[in-house]
Amino acid sequence: MTAVVNPATEETIAEVEARGADETDAAVAAAKEAFPAWRALAPADRARLLRRLATLVEEHHEELSRIESRNAGKPISGARGEVGMVAQVFHFYAGAVDKHHGETIPVAGGVDMTFREPLGVVGLIVPWNFPLNIASWKLGPALACGNTVVLKPAELTPLSVLRLAELALEAGIPEGVVNVVPGKGSVVGQRLIEHPDVAKIGFTGSTEVGQQVMRGAAGTIKRVTLELGGKSANVVFADADLERAAAAAPYAVFDNAGQDCCARSRILVERSAYDRFSELLVEATRGVRVGDPEDDATEMGPLISAAHRETVASFVDGEPLYRGDVPDGKGFWYPCTVVEARPGDRIARDEVFGPVAALIPFADEAEAVRIANDSEYGLSGSIWTSDGARAFRVARAIDTGVLSINSNSSVRVSTPFGGFKQSGFGRELGMHALEGYSEVKNVFYSTD
Ligand code: NDP
Repeated sequence: MTAVVNPATEETIAEVEARGADETDAAVAAAKEAFPAWRALAPADRARLLRRLATLVEEHHEELSRIESRNAGKPISGARGEVGMVAQVFHFYAGAVDKHHGETIPVAGGVDMTFREPLGVVGLIVPWNFPLNIASWKLGPALACGNTVVLKPAELTPLSVLRLAELALEAGIPEGVVNVVPGKGSVVGQRLIEHPDVAKIGFTGSTEVGQQVMRGAAGTIKRVTLELGGKSANVVFADADLERAAAAAPYAVFDNAGQDCCARSRILVERSAYDRFSELLVEATRGVRVGDPEDDATEMGPLISAAHRETVASFVDGEPLYRGDVPDGKGFWYPCTVVEARPGDRIARDEVFGPVAALIPFADEAEAVRIANDSEYGLSGSIWTSDGARAFRVARAIDTGVLSINSNSSVRVSTPFGGFKQSGFGRELGMHALEGYSEVKNVFYSTD
């Protein structure tokens, strides 16, 4: 049994049996058996089942939000937003089932057409930062395309996904279609990667484990989608609405206590506005409400574990520009921290995955782009300016998968999400995600 801990109180809130390789094999076998009937289901019926699941998530919204908040230590208001998105994701993919179709292509001597075939059994490996949300981003398109799934939650946060699996059965999704196997990445995850009957791995997590997924998948030429780390830049030009940009910036780093692959943890500011912006940023950061995740007003909770807190702390040496307060007593707390940095510093290059922002000045547009791109990652980012032409010039020049202009929000149910460079490949959400859970088949029918 593995103890599941509330990061805000350090109390054990559940015991979950960690499964082994044999149990993983059994889940893959169940998914394989369920596949022919699931893929053969009429599209409207598959859509109806996904819609029912979405409705059940809505009906259990508060229960799922509480589970997520306690298990991941996230503020209840944030957890509610995430569970709301989970329902929207299933509604979206219910609607997408019969809108993801093939083509007819003009050829000589007959008719050529393409089909979108499901892959079969897909293995989904998800992290602890957005346990249910990220699971739904993979489950929605995988199920809509007619695949069956074996999902491994992070060892630290299995509870919401285990509850979702119960709701999937209650919705009428047949046994064997959605299988959740809690356990260690090195055991359950590894087995899924190697298993000859698993056609694809959808993975979100660290770049290091992403590399292992890719290597392991090579043995059976598995398809992989990798959503990995980030070190995204929030680029603020002097002509931006500085008050608005500074008021928004803390939430783009400290949301989910910085444990967000999209965190805009490098704040690049044009030198002529640097002093003014840093004053505004510190003021805005002072306003972030850190405390009990169960309190409706809380905006930032603790980190996920004591070990992770140590890693985060190792990034900050010397006196930061700003360090906030945290509650006394139990919990894996780490304060909102702003440091001044240069592009080559470790804090400006490595993913911290905690509430630490690096503030970096730049001279002009060319230097802003150069610094933003000087990273092995390329997941998200923001551009703040009142010059529309510059906004688009810079957006096209930054090597990153998801960008927002005069906003820090870039994750939506209907739009593609994913990375450039070592932030991974493949796209989640929107119609784009369906590409990663289906295979194109080309059929020629002779009319001669
Ligand atoms: P990991 O990449 O280790 O974990 C992500 C998932 O992969 C978990 O379900 C984990 O299982 C599983 N896993 C771990 N090892 C293997 C393996 N050998 N084979 C198959 N699956 C495996 O992330 P961490 O939790 O260790 O976090 C470390 C860092 O990764 C963070 O500090 C952050 O920088 C980054 N990260 C990025 C995320 C993102 O959203 N892109 C999400 C999480 C982390 P288990 O629970 O057993 O560890």
